[in-house]
Order: sequence, then C-alpha cells, then structure tokens
Amino acid sequence: MTCDPLVERMQPYRSSIFAEMSALAQRTGAINLGQGFPDTDPPSAVLDAAVVALRSGHNQYPPGAGLAELRAAVARHQRRAYGIDLDSDSGVQITVGASEALAATILATCGPGDEVVVFEPYFDLYAAVVALAGATLRTVTLRAPEYTFDPQQLRAAVGPRTRLVVVNTPHNPTGRVFTTAELTEIAVVCCDADVLAVTDEVYEHLTFDDCAHVPLATLPGMFERTFTISSAGKTFSATGWKIGWVSGPPELVAATRAVKQHLSYSGGTPFQAALATVLDDVEPIISDLRVDLSRQRDLLCAGLATLGLEVRRPAGTYFVVADVAPLGASDGVAFCRSLPERAGVVAVPTQVFYADPDDGRTLVRFAFCKRPQVLAEAVDRLQKAFC
Ligand code: PMP
Ligand code: GLN
Repeated sequence: MTCDPLVERMQPYRSSIFAEMSALAQRTGAINLGQGFPDTDPPSAVLDAAVVALRSGHNQYPPGAGLAELRAAVARHQRRAYGIDLDSDSGVQITVGASEALAATILATCGPGDEVVVFEPYFDLYAAVVALAGATLRTVTLRAPEYTFDPQQLRAAVGPRTRLVVVNTPHNPTGRVFTTAELTEIAVVCCDADVLAVTDEVYEHLTFDDCAHVPLATLPGMFERTFTISSAGKTFSATGWKIGWVSGPPELVAATRAVKQHLSYSGGTPFQAALATVLDDVEPIISDLRVDLSRQRDLLCAGLATLGLEVRRPAGTYFVVADVAPLGASDGVAFCRSLPERAGVVAVPTQVFYADPDDGRTLVRFAFCKRPQVLAEAVDRLQKAFC
C-alpha cells in the first residue's frame, strides 16, 4: 500500500503524548513522572476480590450493560456520595474505562457540524474523539496561574451549534477542583443554551485539604442533561483494570449504550465482579489514598520549588503543573524530550493539551502518584541537573 492508511481527520492524533513519554522513560531508564499511574499495587482487599472473581466463574462476556451487581453498586455509590438517584438498569452503563465512556458518549451525540466545548488544557482524548466524530472543538481557557476561566469566554464559546460541554473536575492536568460557583456558571450556560453536558470525574475521590468534589449533575437543572462519567482506575489504584461507567437519566445512558455496544460490546468480567464487591467499602481505601497522595504532592511541590519554580499546590488529581521557563526552557516539548538525558526524569509537556500551543508553551506536568523514595530520587536528580 502506498498511501497512508490513517484517515485524514485522525492525522493530528497519531501518537498520544502519554505513549511517547512512557516509551521514552522505558528506553532511557528515567523516572517516569509523565503518565499518571501509581507505582504501587491496589489495596490487598481489592486484589483478593479480583482473585476470587477469577476463580469463581466470572470469565465469560458480561451483559452489554455491565454486570448487574456492579451497576447496582455504582448506583449506591452515587446515592451515598452525592445524593444522586439512579435506576441501576437504565441509568448506569459499564464501559472499558472512562475512556470508552467518553468516546461512546461523544460519538453517540455529535456529528459533523456540531461543536463540543472543552476547557483547556484538556485531556487529549477529548480532542481526538471529537475529531473522530467529525465534530468541531471549541475551547475555553483555564488561565495560569490560578487556572480559572472567564465566564464571558464560556458564554461566547457556546452557540447554536454547541452539542456538548465537557467538564473535567478534578482537572487533569492542572489539579484544580472546580468550585460550586464555577459549576453554577457552567450549569446556567448549559441550561440557557439547552445543551448537554459530559463530566469526566475519574479523580472524584482524589481531593486534598478538605476540598470536596461536586458533580455537575447535582446542580439545578443539570441531572437531566448530564452524562456523568467515572472509573475505578484512580480510586482503586488499578489503572490497568479499565472499568468505567457512565450514569444519568435513561435516555442519555441509552444513547451511550447504543454506541458502546458496537465499540467493545463488553469486557473485564472478573474486574467488574471484584469492583461490585469493593465499591461499597471505598471510604477507608480513599481516606488512606488521600493521605498518601497529599504527602507525595507536598514532597514533589517542595522539591520543584527548590529548583526556583513557582508551584501551586493542586487541590486534587495526581498532577502538578509548573512553568519551567526559569530553568531556561522556551518550549515544553523540547524540554521534556531532553529531560531524561539531562536529569533522568520524564514529565509531560502541557502545551499539547491546548488548541494553541503558545498558551501553554513552557508549562510541564509532573505526576506525584509515585512512592516517596521515587519522588525524592527524582527531585535529587532534577536538583543535580538544574541547581
Ligand atoms: N479522563 C481523565 C481526565 C484521565 O486523566 C484519564 C486517565 N486515566 C481518563 C479519563 C481515562 O480513564 P480510564 O483509564 O478509566 O479509561
Ligand atoms: N490519565 C493518564 C494521564 O493523564 C494517562 C492515560 C492514558 O495514557 N491515556 O497521565
């Protein structure tokens, strides 16, 4: 075949930055503070539940909607954590991670001529799937260093062609947790324009310092127009399990289900069965995780500050973003590509999460979901390279 087999609209999305940076870490042996995954196993009760599930016959296709036990557990979780009432049959769909939930929802609702509003910097999958759907991305910028948005810019971005507003809180890569005031602003815009919302809440339990996550669906007028998406990966430190879910009113969930069934149909039966047994007991797991992660956050933030970087402590997620211009960098991509050789550390350039790379040219994301000794070693290497 002489021509490039990749369809035109996916050409800009040929390689995810996470794949590139993790491959770089592997090739060079550098410490990987790039892709966000823990370097420890899930709690042993969670692992035991998976072993039991594997050994007790949960190894064939689950129903397309997902195991009924897990759908019921997700419905109980949403009720307990946020007071959201769901029908576990028609209001919950299990997916192959939040990734598939996001992809199926965007593909189910958007086509050519439709516009999707996202806050930038944005998780890379949104732009790629919007392109796959043939729709158009519109961005509202979270401006450094506070990473808040201008409500006027949001209002201007939403117009007659807007089909969806995508809201990711706690936010990757900035680590911001949207306030109720900000969510109210978004809710009013969605209701006024009568558009649908998709939320990406995969870091819902990874919040620190008494900062609480508020789902957009709990705001007035929003439940009926919101696809709420989350997954087990971050909550249970099991990013490789790839079990996610979308929940909401039956008409919305039915739309996602219609597309999801033609993507993967279903998957991950033993992991679904395991999660059905541990999701009710998530509280002690997340309180331990929050303590560990907030210490790791503090360790990394303090270390980055010793390099002369201005670091804002993130209120949630696995990530801290710093402007690396004080280290002499003029371009985050070039900086990150050379970082393994210069310092033996891998990080992710935030620039690739902006529609206009100039907006985040020298911003770099570092992940702190790594053991304290690994973070300490990374800081030590950065100090040797830059101080
Ligand atoms: N959304 C955001 C903001 C993420 O950081 C990630 C990466 N975990 C995902 C979605 C994808 O989640 P999953 O691994 O469950 O597919
Ligand atoms: N969510 C992870 C991150 O932001 C990456 C997941 C992926 O590789 N798609 O680092």
